[in-house]
Amino acid sequence: MTSKPIKLQVKNIHKRFGANEVLKGVSLTAHAGDVISIIGSSGSGKSTFLRCINLLEKPHKGRILVAGEELKMAPSSNGELMPVEAKQLQRMRTKLAMVFQHFNLWAHMTVLQNIIEAPVHVLGVSRDEAIATARKYLARVDLAGMEDRYPAHMSGGQQQRVAIARALAIEPEVMLFDEPTSALDPELVSEVLKVMKNLALEGRTMVVVTHEMGFAREVSNHLIFLHKGCIEEQGAPSEVLSAPKSERLAQFLSGSL
Ligand code: ADP
Ligand code: MG
Repeated sequence: MTSKPIKLQVKNIHKRFGANEVLKGVSLTAHAGDVISIIGSSGSGKSTFLRCINLLEKPHKGRILVAGEELKMAPSSNGELMPVEAKQLQRMRTKLAMVFQHFNLWAHMTVLQNIIEAPVHVLGVSRDEAIATARKYLARVDLAGMEDRYPAHMSGGQQQRVAIARALAIEPEVMLFDEPTSALDPELVSEVLKVMKNLALEGRTMVVVTHEMGFAREVSNHLIFLHKGCIEEQGAPSEVLSAPKSERLAQFLSGSL
């Protein structure tokens, strides 16, 4: 694993909202093909951490490197780190695709329009090429032929698979998932997990915030337990889940946190 190139390195992220210190020095390294699951109770800072990685939230401290390139940041007057070069931020964001809990598809656009939007308007890919790529990834998420649907006419599981196809279409270095199945009806969870498992088997580099312990155990090769903004425990999923060293993780796994 260590001989593979590092795709994502996040070092010592600190983030607060007012007086609420949400992240107290969280770090993560993902090599090519790693699938890292992040677990932890509600409010432990999981979403904030993912959002800091692509600067949807501005950290107060920390460093972010994507595929070896460090994002240049400098402190602003309110203490948050701000990107120094808008162009660099935009370029780095195209290397990090995010899949959200609530899909975040554009309701007024068809499936195809949703998927080709960023490739055409951000990456400058030709429309024809973007459409061909969109079709390829729609087939990959088992939605071939659904190009002209609107999100409102699809199930939650289908919408989330469109969101995954949209993420794939920018050909990212790393995919970030924030509880991608938490908003789904239980019967729709497995179709999304199946797609994610296939992405992992293809060797995609993924960071996944999840409550799906089966996925964490079977698909990811590294597990991080976040507790009150700190990494309380991490390691190989089977070991961490079967024999937690920390009392807090043991409590979390038994459902009492
Ligand atoms: P998790 O995803 O683990 O449930 P979050 O990262 O969403 O946790 O939230 C961690 C803490 O940060 C919570 O106390 C939450 O209320 C707070 N928080 C998150 N986003 C904001 C925000 N935009 N403004 C103020 N507080 C926030
Ligand atoms: Mg969250």
